Amino acid sequence: MKNIVVVGTQWGDEGKGKVVDLLAPAFDIVARYQGGHNAGHTVIVGDRKFILRLIPSGILRDTGTCVLGNGVVVDAQAFLDEVDGLEALGIEVQGRLLVSNRAHLILPHYRSVERVSEERRGDDRVGTTMRGIGPAYEQKTGRRGIRVGDALNPERLRATLKSSRDEAATWLEGSEPELSDAALDAFLEAAVKLAPFVVDTGRFLNDAVDDGKRVLLEGAQGTMLDVDHGSYPFVTSSSSTAGGACTGTGLPPTRVSGALGIAKAYTTRVGAGPFPTELLDDRGRHLQDRGQEFGSVTGRPRRTGWFDVPVARYSARINGLTSLALTKLDVLDELDSVSVCVEYRTADGPCDSIPSSIKDYERVEPILEHMDGWRTSTRGISKLEDLPAAARAYVDALSSLVGVEIGLISTGPERDETIVVPGGRVAAWAEN
Ligand code: GDP
Repeated sequence: MKNIVVVGTQWGDEGKGKVVDLLAPAFDIVARYQGGHNAGHTVIVGDRKFILRLIPSGILRDTGTCVLGNGVVVDAQAFLDEVDGLEALGIEVQGRLLVSNRAHLILPHYRSVERVSEERRGDDRVGTTMRGIGPAYEQKTGRRGIRVGDALNPERLRATLKSSRDEAATWLEGSEPELSDAALDAFLEAAVKLAPFVVDTGRFLNDAVDDGKRVLLEGAQGTMLDVDHGSYPFVTSSSSTAGGACTGTGLPPTRVSGALGIAKAYTTRVGAGPFPTELLDDRGRHLQDRGQEFGSVTGRPRRTGWFDVPVARYSARINGLTSLALTKLDVLDELDSVSVCVEYRTADGPCDSIPSSIKDYERVEPILEHMDGWRTSTRGISKLEDLPAAARAYVDALSSLVGVEIGLISTGPERDETIVVPGGRVAAWAEN
């Protein structure tokens, strides 16, 4: 059994899309386990660039099935638009894409609820993407959500939708919810079109594993954005860590044998919240420019900083990482020196873990170690022995500081700009 979870180890945007795309040929099924259409995986194939918001990047390969598990929240129209976009580019989708009947629907008025909710928080706003994803999870946990399977019965869906809208209208206290009767009809029309994709994906996945098929479980966002383990309350509304892969798909922990963490060779974060290694100077802007650190869905610039070992170690622990994929090494190519945060400094002395209180986390300072830069291009290098010595030393230092092997190093956005470390776990997983 070689089913694995691929998880972001930082604050998201680590390059999970590229790594999943690389590993997908060795797996029969790629299943997404949480999040909504705000993920924005960017994958570059030749001269074509795909931005996948909801559908797993495994869909770009010729074979295999992709699953949106029960832990995902689905905006029916956004889903259909993404399917249309992929088909327009010649990618076969029908029959290769399944949506869980237990996934929850994002209703049109959730966007108004999210906007007003953020406005009411004032300076404490989270910086969400305004796609109704947070409210969909709130409704789910509040036991008022509507599941994808309910869309198979349009009359029942219409009645539930109306009561949900009325409830939202009370909460919004006069701010108009985006659910006119016309919007309601449009939503129903889209939701009904989901029907051909909808199955009991928990059963599908377990039956597939019984038949000897291999499943790759793909998370969105990253460990520090997990609703339980992340930098709460500046987090997403779902469980992006490896544990969420089981609750979000119905594949039990006993059927998952490894966890691959994706980490950038530096750190980025979108939106508000603590970021101990943040660089607010020219070096930060340099990383932003070279790394093209702008959100692929929102266009928002990402904050940038040095690699944070306490975050990576925390992530290794919470996710039980068996291997790490280090991405965007090439972005550091021009720096004279690179720094790594090895511990945090706090008023009570050094600390090597993540404080649970956001107030405490906001006050930590990074303890940095400095290493020589390599000042030569690593872009496109695909053999470990071709890395410049200083870059190799940097990679080895990160691996030993985090305590996890680095099984893959990404040296550019393209598929072949990748080093799969010989003898490592990723090399084994990538074997058919
Ligand atoms: P994801 O959501 O974790 O898949 O991350 P994103 O797709 O939002 O961000 C990763 C971005 O970095 C994408 O634009 C990728 O094409 C790009 N990328 C991935 N790996 C590398 C790499 O090794 N080097 C460079 N320069 N860009 C990369």
